[in-house]
Amino acid sequence: MTTTPPAPRPYQSYVYAYPHKTAYRPLGERRPSLRTLWAGEPKDALSLYLHIPFCEVRCGFCNLFTRIGAPGELTTRYLDALERQAEAVRDALGDEEPVRFAAAAFGGGTPTYLTADELDRLCDIAEKRMGADLAAVPLSVETSPSTATADRLAVLAARGATRLSIGVQSFVAEEAKAAVRPQRGSDVAAALGRIRDSAVPVLNIDLIYGIGGQTARTWRYSLDAALDWRPEELYLYPLYVRPLTGLDRRVRESDREWDARRLALYRQGRDHLLDRGYEQVSMRMFRRTDAPGAGEARGPDDYACQTDGMIGLGCGARSYTSRLHYSFDYAVGASEVRGIIDDYTRTEDFGHAEVGFAMTGDESRRRHLLQSLLQAGGLATEEYRSRFGTAPEDDFGPELARFAALGWLDRDAPAGLLRLGPEGLAHSDALGPELFSPAVRAGMAAYEPK
Ligand code: SF4
Repeated sequence: MTTTPPAPRPYQSYVYAYPHKTAYRPLGERRPSLRTLWAGEPKDALSLYLHIPFCEVRCGFCNLFTRIGAPGELTTRYLDALERQAEAVRDALGDEEPVRFAAAAFGGGTPTYLTADELDRLCDIAEKRMGADLAAVPLSVETSPSTATADRLAVLAARGATRLSIGVQSFVAEEAKAAVRPQRGSDVAAALGRIRDSAVPVLNIDLIYGIGGQTARTWRYSLDAALDWRPEELYLYPLYVRPLTGLDRRVRESDREWDARRLALYRQGRDHLLDRGYEQVSMRMFRRTDAPGAGEARGPDDYACQTDGMIGLGCGARSYTSRLHYSFDYAVGASEVRGIIDDYTRTEDFGHAEVGFAMTGDESRRRHLLQSLLQAGGLATEEYRSRFGTAPEDDFGPELARFAALGWLDRDAPAGLLRLGPEGLAHSDALGPELFSPAVRAGMAAYEPK
């Protein structure tokens, strides 16, 4: 007789990149030069990510690397440092082989915390220092209701932005307040109107479910209010309460009740969007079926290209080579974040990787499996075999058997495709962590939030 293993709790962690930055460690004396690190890496389809670690307010749920209320002199110093880093990195990439960027993104924080002139300068850094042709590649930019002003959007549109992503979280004022993101509905509507007027082709709206006081009715209200703007994309995020964030110390319902409520709201949101002409790209991402990029397996925020390199600039950005993922120090607490940003703005030598995680063959396999499986399109086993010489079942037999026993795999997937079913997608945040290696688990467990 076979028994179904007990299912883990559904909301453990959002695996948007593997390994998580909390598994990175200072590289100390072993810190490699970027020139050594990038020698021999493919450079003809790189992704470029520029990180702006500034916001006007700190949302209660946010554990991203960002500080609030940065004065103008700091944003100038930050852009100066970004420019120095871009020069050093471009120099390290060399000119022996062609260097080409296939996609770019400005994230944060809130990149539109910068003024219109500063955004223009940011685009110049990407183009003139790094050599990215922003007008020719997809360019995604994150924004917020109060910073999505007409002058900033005009700069971004003129420089080739193809996607604007705005965090609304909830169209219900009390819920926005409960998530420690106070905002007026009229301001949100005005910002969405300006984004539509900017004619940037893709609008993404982020919403959150699981907020205190949120019900099926109010969730439906927020979904419909977002749908009124016919966004090309919608991200539905479960609320997490994480260490050192504004929600950290708040009393809440029992974990079990909260899990059940979030799962119910997830299913409601998913079904509603599928009914309204959206396709599901991952647990969080939905795309309008007639939008640009519809039918593509991946979403722009779900960086899942398992083989291509990534260049991250800015003090919270990660960079990926085949052998090392690297970044700078990471923190969430306000004073630590300030210290790291200040150190970054004083840095003159950007020629080395400072903090990172060495990728082994096993870690690369895990990353490939994880990031493919967490997309609704799934994993083509032939692609995996041609990269690693083995089948996923050879490398992760027990894990895949467990996922099958939990009812997470799609039994009707065509031959050669490993894909999650609806319950697997719903449990993405439980499934992802089950594929973490012992080394990554140990690194994450030893990390002390700061
Ligand atoms: S959720 Fe976005 S806007 Fe809010 S504090 Fe975090 S980075 Fe800033």
